[in-house]
Amino acid sequence: MEFFQPSSWSEALEVKADHPEATPIAGGTDVMVELNLDHRRPASIVDLTRVRELTEWGMEDGRLRIGAGVTYTRVIDELGDRLPGLAMASRTVGSPQIRNRGTVGGNLGTSSPAGDAHPPLLASDAQVEVASKAGTRRIPIREFFTGPKKNAMQQDELIAAFLVEPAPGAQQFSKVGTRNAMVIAVCSFALALDPARRRVGTGIGSAGPTPLRASEAEQFIEGVLDEENLWDRRTPVSESALARFGQLVAMAARPIDDVRGTAAYRRHALAVLARRCFVWAWSSPSVGRWRGAPEGP
Ligand SMILES: Cc1cc2nc3c(=O)[nH]c(=O)nc-3n(C[C@H](O)[C@H](O)[C@H](O)COP(=O)(O)OP(=O)(O)OC[C@H]3O[C@@H](n4cnc5c(N)ncnc54)[C@H](O)[C@@H]3O)c2cc1C
Repeated sequence: MEFFQPSSWSEALEVKADHPEATPIAGGTDVMVELNLDHRRPASIVDLTRVRELTEWGMEDGRLRIGAGVTYTRVIDELGDRLPGLAMASRTVGSPQIRNRGTVGGNLGTSSPAGDAHPPLLASDAQVEVASKAGTRRIPIREFFTGPKKNAMQQDELIAAFLVEPAPGAQQFSKVGTRNAMVIAVCSFALALDPARRRVGTGIGSAGPTPLRASEAEQFIEGVLDEENLWDRRTPVSESALARFGQLVAMAARPIDDVRGTAAYRRHALAVLARRCFVWAWSSPSVGRWRGAPEGP
């Protein structure tokens, strides 16, 4: 097996251009499992852990640009206030050891429908920045996942970063598993409120061939909030509207029966998670963190 260890981003792109078949490795928490179980025998590996650029994050035109090599632990510690939904999801990933090694870029690279970073990134309309020697492009996350463990990247491309707006309002994430920790989601749901734009974003995990958005559910609840002027009044949403929202989220899922749960259970659980996430977010003080409004008392 050939092993490459570039020490800069441009060097990494050179290596990938010369060896498009090479498997990138970041935290290794997916790649090493596949090697150990003999599910994959790559002819060559590109170790990205020495590429400093991938571990950096900062603001760019009002959005956070977060390097693909930023770990879950760092998302929680350094970005938890700005990206509460992604931080909640990150806290549910594996164990402290996995969160110390595992990266959001690696989650995107694997593109599992069960990847926990995906629903909050979908709910917030993130973009994935990919690059090759030929150039850089930014892919809206809803176009990134193309099938189970498949994505829109070309063979010579690497994930550079993802871009996402700091939370303009309350965010939530909830996951059902077969036990409390170290568990792949049976299903998961993320919600992001944007009071200034009067938008509700959603993300469904582990209940379809790819992570999904529940667009009809979003439009329905946005309509309810607008018609009843609830963004301004901030009064609770009716039980019947919440039930319909949950139902539409369940209908947007495309689950299967597998060892972790049945399709019917997943739909039922998603309806419950969607209602709960909405109520938690709607009753949170940060729902009113209006863009541009002064923070604090
Ligand atoms: C015990 C255990 C528990 C886990 N629990 C969870 C969990 O609860 N939730 C969850 O979502 N996941 C879980 N995982 C899976 C894994 O930890 C995550 O998917 C993690 O985000 C992978 O990140 P990584 O940096 O380790 O990726 P790696 O294993 O290094 O890479 C993963 C994939 O992404 C590709 N890749 C990595 N970086 C790049 C890049 N910059 N550009 C292009 N491709 C790239 C690799 O080639 C590979 O295909 C668990 C894994 C283990 C072993």
